[in-house]
Amino acid sequence: MTKVGIFGLLVTHLPDLRYLCGFTGSSAAFAVTRRQARLFTDGRYTTQAAEEVRGARVGIVTGPPAIAAVEWLRTQPGIEGAAFDPSATTVAELSRWRASLPVRVRKSFLSELVEPLVMPLRMVKDEDELALISEAALIGCRLFEHILGFIRPGLREIDVAAELEYKARRLGAEGMSFETIVASGERSALPHGRATLTPLTRKGFLTLDFGIIHKGYLSDMTRTVYLGNPSVRERGAYEAVLEAQESGVGAVRAGARCGDVDEAARSVLRIAGLAEAFTHSSGHGVGLEIHEPPRIGAGQTDRLLAGMVVTIEPGVYLAGQFGIRIEDMVVVTRTGGKVLTPAPKALIQL
Ligand code: ZN
Ligand code: ZN
Repeated sequence: MTKVGIFGLLVTHLPDLRYLCGFTGSSAAFAVTRRQARLFTDGRYTTQAAEEVRGARVGIVTGPPAIAAVEWLRTQPGIEGAAFDPSATTVAELSRWRASLPVRVRKSFLSELVEPLVMPLRMVKDEDELALISEAALIGCRLFEHILGFIRPGLREIDVAAELEYKARRLGAEGMSFETIVASGERSALPHGRATLTPLTRKGFLTLDFGIIHKGYLSDMTRTVYLGNPSVRERGAYEAVLEAQESGVGAVRAGARCGDVDEAARSVLRIAGLAEAFTHSSGHGVGLEIHEPPRIGAGQTDRLLAGMVVTIEPGVYLAGQFGIRIEDMVVVTRTGGKVLTPAPKALIQL
């Protein structure tokens, strides 16, 4: 805060404040000065906040926590203003916060952060975080192994999703990271094909993209399997995606440009004549949220740092025909990328 010249910081984005003080409840605001910090929440969380919050005092309030946080910041000695994260603030929230301030400071007290302040910290995971993310990823791998024995013709996509999600809970998951993707046959050409009532095709690709929440940290992986016997063309496309994915993983290391990692995957598909069918970026950061910076996309000049966790997930999508995606979670180290999701990637036929 001293470095960027701010006296006070208001944090309302829940993953950010969880990261800063440990609180996991659903209603809170976090206020920081250069000297101290305070978490504001409501009476439902009195016990939980006392147990969870570290490095800050807790204020239990009856009104909106953010309003209390703004009031607290304004009355701290030596504070001329406070900054907030515009990407985590709605227009309505900001006008409510401003309306709560005395008229003479209403316009001047709150200002937008020019650069995000918490996300750069969250992007680089410490050892404890990496251990949790790795555990989450391994639970994902066990789920994939389990679901391979469950998939059979006659099931619907939602049956597969239901089994996966039930098993996830039994393995200790707090929940799923996002809506489970189970996309069979032609539907595998939808990059985000949520599980539907559609029966699994007898012959064709089946894409499974899923993740679990483990102690707040998320996993994310994709595997595409084949029901029946693939054609030469289908197998060729699968091999191209696998080669692209491994090329992307191989390009991960501290100091690498995100755009270069994307290109390592994309160029393989370009050579295979499938560049047009690869319609999204190659990956994203993952941690307390499913899509965090950095983005592994074409032309991205940001450089990877040791301790970041990113996905590498190229895919090809041919509308009306089929789609294929393979996704691993990879932790960035100084010497390369370490895959956290060691589930098999060679084409599995069921
Ligand atoms: Zn995914
Ligand atoms: Zn992903």
